[in-house]
Amino acid sequence: MKVAILSGKGGTGKSSFASSLALEMSKKNMVLVDADVDCPNQHILFPGEILRKEPLYVSKTAVFDESKHIFSHRCAEVCRFGAIRIINSKAVIDRLKCEGCGACVLVCPDAIKLMPKLGGELIVKETKHFPLVYGKLEPGESGSGKVVFEVKKAAESIAKERGTELTIIDAPAGIGCPVIAALTGCDYAVGVVEPTPASIANLKRALEVVRHFNIPFSVVINKAGISETYEKKITVEFGEALIAQVPYDEEIPRLLAQAIPPIKGKGAGAKGFKKAVKAIEKKIFS
Ligand code: SF4
Repeated sequence: MKVAILSGKGGTGKSSFASSLALEMSKKNMVLVDADVDCPNQHILFPGEILRKEPLYVSKTAVFDESKHIFSHRCAEVCRFGAIRIINSKAVIDRLKCEGCGACVLVCPDAIKLMPKLGGELIVKETKHFPLVYGKLEPGESGSGKVVFEVKKAAESIAKERGTELTIIDAPAGIGCPVIAALTGCDYAVGVVEPTPASIANLKRALEVVRHFNIPFSVVINKAGISETYEKKITVEFGEALIAQVPYDEEIPRLLAQAIPPIKGKGAGAKGFKKAVKAIEKKIFS
């Protein structure tokens, strides 16, 4: 069983909910995946011993052979991304601009080659509760979907080795390639929304992706109590999919500031997370 937690918008409490679900489910044989490869943070809440750490080469970049000279400007002309400048008969390639399309290699195969490019890092940790698999995208790189794919592949291999029955995936914000990679193959999704117009609008967009994949889903309100108006809107918008509410509680940011998973608190927020987790557990295992 693979369960993805998503929100569309960042800052709604998606990762707090994912950490809560993982901790409450840790009695099961499970794996936690942090697929938010732009800004992973589950490893801050769940430190552990590194079992595996490796670079991920998920794309290619053009590399100029310094022993060669450029006699025409064709490579710079065909580069639609403005990544090549010719200086003193040498091609200077801006690696951040290069999209690895290979057009320059076609017109100048003797001096320019496509080489694998470092896109990110895969890390597997053994935490006190469960194995945690996450990735870190290299700053400025664009292959986040491919990094998520590699992270999920590593999690699948651990799940197979250990015979785990549950994989929880903390999906990235947004609705793009890394979210699609995080949702692919999932059996269930949980949308986390806060009672604000931006969060409602963004979750609606994220759930369009979930519906596209025919994944059953539920919705949980986080920070309930901050706007009665928008809580009513959430009820109308998401109807029966809405199954739990976690009240706004100032203890939660204080716990996060100490890198403590919010469900470990004693206040109404922590109790709300526990209730929400129970409701989701009932949904996914009934
Ligand atoms: S591979 Fe494509 S994007 Fe990169 S430098 Fe060559 S033409 Fe430009």
